[in-house]
Amino acid sequence: MREHSRRSRTYEYYVKLRYTETRVCRSAFMSLHGITRKKLQILMGKRILSPTGTPTQDRRGRTGNSKSIVGPPLDHVHEHIGNLVVIASHYSRAHSPHRRYLETGLTITELHANYVQWMETTYTGEGCVSPRFYRTVFTRDYNIVFRPPKTDLCNRCELLKSTIAHKETQEVNVDADIKTLEDHQKLAEEIQQLLSLAEKESRVAPPDSQLRTICIDLQQTLPCPRLHTGVAYYKRKMWIYNFCVYDLNKKKGNMYVWQEMTARRGSDEIGSCILKWLESELTDPGNQFKRLRIFCDNCAGQNKNSNIVVMALRLIHALTLDKVELVFMVPGHSFLPCDRAFGYIEKKIRKCRHIYSPTDYLRIIRKAVGEENNVNCHGED
Ligand SMILES: [Zn+2]
Repeated sequence: MREHSRRSRTYEYYVKLRYTETRVCRSAFMSLHGITRKKLQILMGKRILSPTGTPTQDRRGRTGNSKSIVGPPLDHVHEHIGNLVVIASHYSRAHSPHRRYLETGLTITELHANYVQWMETTYTGEGCVSPRFYRTVFTRDYNIVFRPPKTDLCNRCELLKSTIAHKETQEVNVDADIKTLEDHQKLAEEIQQLLSLAEKESRVAPPDSQLRTICIDLQQTLPCPRLHTGVAYYKRKMWIYNFCVYDLNKKKGNMYVWQEMTARRGSDEIGSCILKWLESELTDPGNQFKRLRIFCDNCAGQNKNSNIVVMALRLIHALTLDKVELVFMVPGHSFLPCDRAFGYIEKKIRKCRHIYSPTDYLRIIRKAVGEENNVNCHGED
């Protein structure tokens, strides 16, 4: 009597040619389909275990040995991430309302190291989760990115908001903080309205108006050359400065571009640019005015300092002007018309792969905010 075979199953290989199926050997089957023996083994031996030949369910992650972290360790991770000082962006809020930003240069690995230290002091003796688990929670449950927000934010608003949020969790009275935040935002709004009003007024002002309103701002420094090769990340770049004087009456911008080898970007240079603009305006006999109103941000090194005030006083003593008003926007809430022009420039720069020289920058700036935007660009060609 024939002994019972130990084989649990037998495989037969068929190749279909038109309507007839021809039985072939395994080697022929593999070479005809261009598959390897391993692939065949996976299909038959390892995965198809059911007698009917249907593939069994995927067992990945269902071995029952995995340790899922729940309870206090997970709560501690959430608490640590919740304590991070994150900021929302004013501009990108419309596109991604829930996205928050963290300081640039930070990484999740560094955050985990910080978490380990925090655990040692806050929950001494309790175990920490692995960097991998921390990363999973951070990326899965939060929408926080490590990059600078597109535009500068108001530190005061963010500080007050996080103070309120923190105090609320501690069940402390926050009325005073809410009042401070409201007052601050009200002031910011009032000054912004003042600017809108000035814009409206200058739009309807007659050409011989004695009051001229301008906005001034320095663009974020531009690195030169701008390259994307690895080595360029480790070298110091030369900075290019771009100062904008935007005339609200004429709806015309003037940009002054220079490099750090020529001059710095302090109050002297800002004053010189304003004087240069004033000189070019006042040389035109049909373009006379006696009062100047300047809207600017709070940068102490550039706009808000005694040098600028002295420059204004000198203009009055020299009888060039009768009155100079300096209007400082609330920090973090200064959305000046100059920013619009800078936005066009930055958009253009992002599209350029490489920028090699200051002349290239000048060309890009002229292209971005040229004649069609009514912007004059002055620079060292
Ligand atoms: Zn603010």
